[in-house]
Amino acid sequence: MRLPFFKRAATFEHGIHPAYHKETGSLPIRRMAFAPRLIVPLSQHIGKPAVCCVNVGQEVVRGEVIATADGFVSLPVHAPATGVVEDIGVSLAANGKMVESITIRVYEADSQEVQVRTPRDVESLGKKELLEAIQQTGISGLGGATFPAHVKLNVPPETAIDTLVVNGAECEPFLTCDHRIMVERTQDLLRGIRFAMQASGAPRAVIGVEDNKPDAIAAIEAALPLDGTVTVKALETKYPQGAEDTIIYALLGREIPAGQRPASIGVLVNNVMTLAYLGRLLPAGEGIVERVLTVAGPAVEKPGNYIVPIGTPLRFLLEQVGAKSNASEIILGGPMMGMTISSLDVPVTKGTSGVLAFGRAQLPEEAPKVYSCIKCGECLKVCPKFLNPSQLGLLAAKREYEEMAERYNLDRCFECGCCSYVCPSHIPLVQQFRIAKAVNREKASAA
Ligand code: SF4
Ligand code: SF4
Repeated sequence: MRLPFFKRAATFEHGIHPAYHKETGSLPIRRMAFAPRLIVPLSQHIGKPAVCCVNVGQEVVRGEVIATADGFVSLPVHAPATGVVEDIGVSLAANGKMVESITIRVYEADSQEVQVRTPRDVESLGKKELLEAIQQTGISGLGGATFPAHVKLNVPPETAIDTLVVNGAECEPFLTCDHRIMVERTQDLLRGIRFAMQASGAPRAVIGVEDNKPDAIAAIEAALPLDGTVTVKALETKYPQGAEDTIIYALLGREIPAGQRPASIGVLVNNVMTLAYLGRLLPAGEGIVERVLTVAGPAVEKPGNYIVPIGTPLRFLLEQVGAKSNASEIILGGPMMGMTISSLDVPVTKGTSGVLAFGRAQLPEEAPKVYSCIKCGECLKVCPKFLNPSQLGLLAAKREYEEMAERYNLDRCFECGCCSYVCPSHIPLVQQFRIAKAVNREKASAA
């Protein structure tokens, strides 16, 4: 029986229902041990990399600034452990690039308490001081977007934000760290929401949570302020419910015009993990030195949500969960939009929401054979942006990338992968669209 409209979970049109594998959602968050060495990249956010302010051989304490922000669109980096700076050089990042990093040898005998903090009364701060304080925490979008939190909350005076959308959808299969944060750190989350409203001027906030997390919805409902400025709404469990466009449409019925940002329709979107850390670190005056992330996948013996120091090498992390020997494919983030990594030397960064490990048994012997488009229309039925992935795919095969953008709105594609997921011909549509967009971007910047 279909529920009456007012009881139905909010949603968007199209999308898919992949297998969710959310078993870790019922397990409490655990703390992971410190690796002997932490590799801390200076560029873990969108914007200018931080500038190193320590030397090799220098002792550092947990929470101390080891690299300062280089301008407004940049973030400081804090020592994730007490130890000694062993190296300042380059290391491999998840995207395959070499980035400047600081390696810290961790003092084993240390209690690893955060030792640098400047508690503050956040509510008494003016907008400028508040944004500065947020920048000092070093927090970027912890859902994976890595946009500096203070830049996102810096709303220009001519823009009025009427609603802060708080993204607790967590629609990617396997990932459950947002779920556990909503259940276990509800007060941090609500405090962070209040700070984000204060910084952005938004008079109300709506928290959207997929309806496969009823305990998270209940925990939030029980803690909501009585003045009605913050509400929670159940969303249908459907991928990609957590994308900015789809969650805004589901919660508010508004569409972001092509080429514009959510602020153009009076909305700001923040992820629950980002806001929970803001709510925890901002009043304490601490920098971000660790994060909660999901470690899961069929090759993991001890799956769960772990508090992991920033800079922990994946090799160490996988050893801790019993996955190192049998894992043959590692994905950072979720299986739909995450990235496969080629080296276990890559460290956990602020944007790492999940580490998924798959063994040989779970992977096909060979990549599936790609066939021609049979014009079945399945990809059109699932695209949340109402694009024509079939036509875009045909043009991509002919490298007609400009035509894809000009006539078929390639730029509206946010690479959710729904079209590739349903294509019976196994056409790697989303991969083709990523290449097409990159080529168009390069051409535009060269012009
Ligand atoms: S990847 Fe792009 S084209 Fe494919 S379904 Fe998602 S938004 Fe549509
Ligand atoms: S789903 Fe695949 S085969 Fe079907 S129309 Fe789209 S591209 Fe063609």
